[in-house]
Amino acid sequence: MPILDKVLIANRGEIALRVLRACKELDIKTVAVHSLADRNLKHVRLADEAVCIGPAPSMESYLNVPAIISAAEVTNASAVHPGYGFLAENADFADQVEKSGFIFVGPRADTIRLMGDKVSAIEAMKKAGVPTVPGSDGPLDGDSERTLGIARRIGYPVIVKAAAGGGGRGMRVVHNEAALLNSVQVTQSEAAAAFGSDVVYLEKFLQKPRHVEIQVLADGQGHAVHLGDRDCSLQRRHQKVLEEAPAPDIPHDLRQQVAEACVNACIEIGYRGAGTFEFLYEDGGFYFIEMNTRVQVEHPVTEMITGIDIVKEQLRIASGLPLSMTQQDISFHGHAFECRINAEDPRTFLPSPGLVTTFHAPGGLGVRVDSHLYDGYTVPPYYDSLIAKIITFGESRQVALARMRQALDELVVDGIRTNAPLHQELVCDKAFQAGGVSIHYLESKLED
Ligand code: ADP
Repeated sequence: MPILDKVLIANRGEIALRVLRACKELDIKTVAVHSLADRNLKHVRLADEAVCIGPAPSMESYLNVPAIISAAEVTNASAVHPGYGFLAENADFADQVEKSGFIFVGPRADTIRLMGDKVSAIEAMKKAGVPTVPGSDGPLDGDSERTLGIARRIGYPVIVKAAAGGGGRGMRVVHNEAALLNSVQVTQSEAAAAFGSDVVYLEKFLQKPRHVEIQVLADGQGHAVHLGDRDCSLQRRHQKVLEEAPAPDIPHDLRQQVAEACVNACIEIGYRGAGTFEFLYEDGGFYFIEMNTRVQVEHPVTEMITGIDIVKEQLRIASGLPLSMTQQDISFHGHAFECRINAEDPRTFLPSPGLVTTFHAPGGLGVRVDSHLYDGYTVPPYYDSLIAKIITFGESRQVALARMRQALDELVVDGIRTNAPLHQELVCDKAFQAGGVSIHYLESKLED
């Protein structure tokens, strides 16, 4: 089976460059699509072909499906890689791509749809033996007595969540019975307005969980493997800030058991591509919250401890090739961290776009920098503020962390403000150094 001939990269920034590098390595030709504001992006310069797909606002460019499909047509691309964000988890886009005769580098549209609806995703996972959060086992049906009964059974606090929610929106924590019915109603109307569906469900609200996720690869031909876990508990407003692999301090047998359940789930639902099962982890229990059907920002930490190039595997799977490895072939070695460097004020978190006068990336053994920055690049104000990912590897957690401290000290981004000072503080934080802080740790530290 030949590998794909030409891939259109339907994204921007560091992930577009990441996909381009994987394509080059596999001898796949590349098409960059970009907005008017992005003609100077690094990957646009490096791609074999580039097509401008519209003005700066995402709605008119990176989310403009007809423009992207046209670009694939005029360049005669064979496949579309969506990266993360933008259209990566849009089932209608995946459908459109395939109906237009191109390969979508990702799962089938119906799988994206199944996992995009949290109620159906949880149901599918339960069936496959993946542990889930105690909850309403399906949508609330408008029967107040039944809703109150479910919450009583689960026990307060509970969280009302929109089935179609995403990006940390469409959920509300309820601490007592008096507030429940009103919260359900408010979440329903918010969800209807924001996501076009008012379906909501209930879950037990876990008080001090960690965010632990499991990376999988599956070929849609009956084979699936897991690439271990990551801890992404350091978050601000549900946005991940600093990640590591493997997740520290989790009993080996439990880690193994949950990862195997994820692999079985992939086979059961006929999953194809790279994917991530996200869990909350509390008191020795894993609770599935959602599946991401795409490559994730933090995928490099897994690549560092497994030596597997996840984007290359995505491209191979999309070509119709069976998985190039079995679970026995995968071994885990060492520890890795990733700091997300954003163009933002380290204290107020306000975006800080503008001209980067000097960019100096750190280096040395075990240091990787995924970034589209260069001296003289202007960070536009229209998109996500992620400008660089610093990834460090070491044979132990301590070594990887020491390398991250050094790497952050070496980093120079002049002309704009970045959150590097926040990372410098975090890597020296005692609780973080000990490992295993909860998802609330960063926000409570920032309040002090
Ligand atoms: P989204 O799709 O919006 O990211 P998730 O279901 O992944 O929604 O939840 C986002 C975040 O909300 C989680 O990372 C966690 O911080 C919090 N959260 C979600 N469900 C629960 C729960 N049952 N208990 C405690 N926190 C939760």
